[in-house]
Amino acid sequence: MDKKVILISIDGMRPDGVQKCGNPFVEELKKISSYTFNARTVEPSVTLPCHMSLFHSVTPSRHGILTNTYVPQVRPINGLFERVSQSGGTCAFFYGWEPLRDVARPGSLKWANYTNAYTEDSSDTVLTDACIDIIKRHKPDFVFLYMVETDEKGGHDNGWMTDAYLGYVSTALSNAKRVYDLFGDEYTIIITADHGGHDRSHGSLLDEDMTIPQFYIGKDFEKGKVLEGVSILDTTPTIAKVMGIIPEQDWEGKPII
Ligand SMILES: [Zn+2]
Repeated sequence: MDKKVILISIDGMRPDGVQKCGNPFVEELKKISSYTFNARTVEPSVTLPCHMSLFHSVTPSRHGILTNTYVPQVRPINGLFERVSQSGGTCAFFYGWEPLRDVARPGSLKWANYTNAYTEDSSDTVLTDACIDIIKRHKPDFVFLYMVETDEKGGHDNGWMTDAYLGYVSTALSNAKRVYDLFGDEYTIIITADHGGHDRSHGSLLDEDMTIPQFYIGKDFEKGKVLEGVSILDTTPTIAKVMGIIPEQDWEGKPII
């Protein structure tokens, strides 16, 4: 592995939610990262299809997962977890929504932690604590931290862009800052959302649902650079390039570096 990477996905985090949540880390992020408030996710703008596209760099029409219910791929493509483990790297996965487990095939993870967002208060923070502990002790090559309270308790329970929603976005970004402060020197860190949201829902082709923020922090990424034309399909090819992993031929996105 050339470099180690931490990918942080904050579910349903809208770009204007990042800018309006009031967390001071946002201004720091704009200085330390190559970033965009205008990246595009895939249709349908729903959690499992979007994360499958994020990790497999193809649209849902190719990977075949069109709802939040996983079905095995008819023409299987190796995703990022598989390529990292096949290349001799180690992967860790921390998540607050159980169906997301299927984005990694069996055998590709060394560490995983599922913490249910509705049975554990502040699950995003609890998961971040667990993630930090594993990174400190084991230094996995690839770490995926997925926070869901923004979407479930913020957007769906209260509405996108409400004060409650913005509070969850701010908390998630504070968790991301803790990871950055501890491991920003050792790891490339990428922060993304899977989709946005409107009213108390998402899944449509509305810009509010389809537009996501992304921040790329590390030696390969120019600080303060505003990125244009980025797709969620580009995330995994970019991570593979940073880590020095040969990409899967079927991946359709392009590295942003
Ligand atoms: Zn989602």
